[in-house]
Amino acid sequence: MTYVTRINHLKHTDKNPFNNLFIIIYPSGPMDSRNEPREIIRLDLNENHLLCEEYYETLVSDLDIDISDYPSEYSEELCQSIAGHIGVRPDQVMVANGSDEVLEIIFKTMVSKDGVLGYYEPTYGYYSLIANTNDIKVVEIPLKSDFTLPGIDGFVDDIDALVVCSPNNPTSLTVDKRYIRALLERDVVVIVDEVYAEFSSEDCLDLIDDHENLLICRTFSKAWGLAGIRIGYAVSDNDNIMQLIENMRAYCVNTLSQSIAMSAIDNSHHMERSLEKTLKEREYLSEGLEEIDFNVLPSETNFLFCRPPSGIDPFEISRALEERGILVKTFEEARINDFLRITVGTRDINDRLIEELEDILDS
Ligand code: PMP
Repeated sequence: MTYVTRINHLKHTDKNPFNNLFIIIYPSGPMDSRNEPREIIRLDLNENHLLCEEYYETLVSDLDIDISDYPSEYSEELCQSIAGHIGVRPDQVMVANGSDEVLEIIFKTMVSKDGVLGYYEPTYGYYSLIANTNDIKVVEIPLKSDFTLPGIDGFVDDIDALVVCSPNNPTSLTVDKRYIRALLERDVVVIVDEVYAEFSSEDCLDLIDDHENLLICRTFSKAWGLAGIRIGYAVSDNDNIMQLIENMRAYCVNTLSQSIAMSAIDNSHHMERSLEKTLKEREYLSEGLEEIDFNVLPSETNFLFCRPPSGIDPFEISRALEERGILVKTFEEARINDFLRITVGTRDINDRLIEELEDILDS
């Protein structure tokens, strides 16, 4: 069934235990009395709903901007804020509209006309989409059966740039840093997609200064709970950053988003607190799912990649949850079509999800 979705106005109240997680789903087709919109909980997009009301209120009330003027050309002030926060130099940072746009600029810049881009499978589906729409040749490298990465000698000499998603969407696993170090010793551009890195025990930022062939991509959509402002950034050697900037439009990131991101950094204690909460809830949800016989991979993200109890079809579970107002992610690809990907929610949502799943499995 197809739906037209509209985000419900972002109203956080104490009475609403799900905070901004509600959106209203409008069934497609003409609206009539049998076709009423209903509220649903989206656990299929890996947004972060564990930040508090005070955080969002602060970000909006702190706004001090002049929207009659163009924004800063390449978000220079935001680059400085980000650099200060993650401990790199401002000239090692480039900002664009979400990490999706950052990735597109990186691919277009780092893969020459006849060059080849590599990425592992299964991974984030947007890599292949960007490559296809930009006529970039790709090599898909299958992950091993346990979703860890294969030896590099089999493919690394045939590609110009390689995307490593760490932690990986959808498998939720972080890539061993020794593997990334080994890749960096080879003649290949290594693009590490770290949009979930804040939830992980490891990241690659400390490798930037010593490796000119490393580009890292990050976002405000996940740990910062700001998917709506569409801010992503690249971190790399300044020569690479200058090349990326040559391939992007000036003034492309709007004033409002730049200002909100800077204010988020100024108030980063909220994000830090929500990280702690997410890790706690991730464990809680994972244990809850294991108790009802789901097989859950050890997640380093804000979602869980899990297999329902044997003999139970994940598509059936997803349909039954949808009827009860909860969306989770299913997969068509053969290797992962027996898995579900579920975003970690608040305690209330996680309890509600487990309750609904118990009920579905009992029926
Ligand atoms: N990379 C990965 C691995 C993702 O899962 C996503 C979004 N879910 C993105 C990049 C894009 O994130 P955004 O454009 O919101 O920064």
